[in-house]
Amino acid sequence: ALRAEGIRKSFGSLEVLKGVDLTACKGDVIAIIGGSGSGKSTLLRCLNLLEHPTAGSLRIDGEEVGLTPDGRGHLGAASNAQIRRIRTKLAMVFQSFNLWSHMTLLENVTEVPVRVLGIPRDKATVEAMELLDRVGLADKANVYPAFLSGGQQQRGAIARALAVQPKVMLFDEPTSALDPELVGEVLKVITSLAEEGRTMILVTHEMGFARDVANHVVFLRDGLVEEQGLPAQVLGNPKSERLARFLGNVG
Ligand code: ATP
Ligand code: MG
Repeated sequence: ALRAEGIRKSFGSLEVLKGVDLTACKGDVIAIIGGSGSGKSTLLRCLNLLEHPTAGSLRIDGEEVGLTPDGRGHLGAASNAQIRRIRTKLAMVFQSFNLWSHMTLLENVTEVPVRVLGIPRDKATVEAMELLDRVGLADKANVYPAFLSGGQQQRGAIARALAVQPKVMLFDEPTSALDPELVGEVLKVITSLAEEGRTMILVTHEMGFARDVANHVVFLRDGLVEEQGLPAQVLGNPKSERLARFLGNVG
């Protein structure tokens, strides 16, 4: 579904990603772990072109992303149309709840299908209500985000991401801004998506969750993949000294 090769990203003189390869086949659940500043968020943002990689190649759902130099030595995607297409193939859920505050939950979920994908409002509404039901929020459809708990907002953000029928779901620490008692309800939704065979790449600090739900774990350190493999191997029996130390600190 997705293949990234040799992804590099610099901010000024700071090279944050130093050549990262990442492949997600259909049904893969990939957990990206690593210390603060190791480049996890930047990598996810490069995958859906919220950031433009400075080098590398990206193939998504059989489509080569046209990364061409933009004159400042950076690579830009070929066209805005391609960027839009990529963003609907790779829907992202962020750490802090990013529902649009001036829209009801239902409007949040139907907005992109109606305005960007051109789906008739009636149809989009029916589909949105099904998604809200899936994440346990059918009774909150007409509520504004400010009146939802953090966990509800995050489940709403997941419904909104699902509404574009993405090929790959990207999650950047979806539970780390939540009060501890709300973490479980969000992880449960993500786990159910994994169980239905959705392709997902998630950055997480929840090692138990990574072990249970992922089929592949990638440890990023200082902009490079330091170690990767099966969760039991990477989390249970790390080869890298640095990974062992990292796991000792978070676990
Ligand atoms: P955390 O676990 O704290 O979320 P992370 O692994 O997600 O960390 P990134 O957010 O990818 O780390 O950041 C990696 C490095 O890139 C950091 O040093 C950060 O300061 C830098 N960085 C990220 N975005 C930008 C930006 N837009 N401009 C300049 N530097 C940036
Ligand atoms: Mg981050």
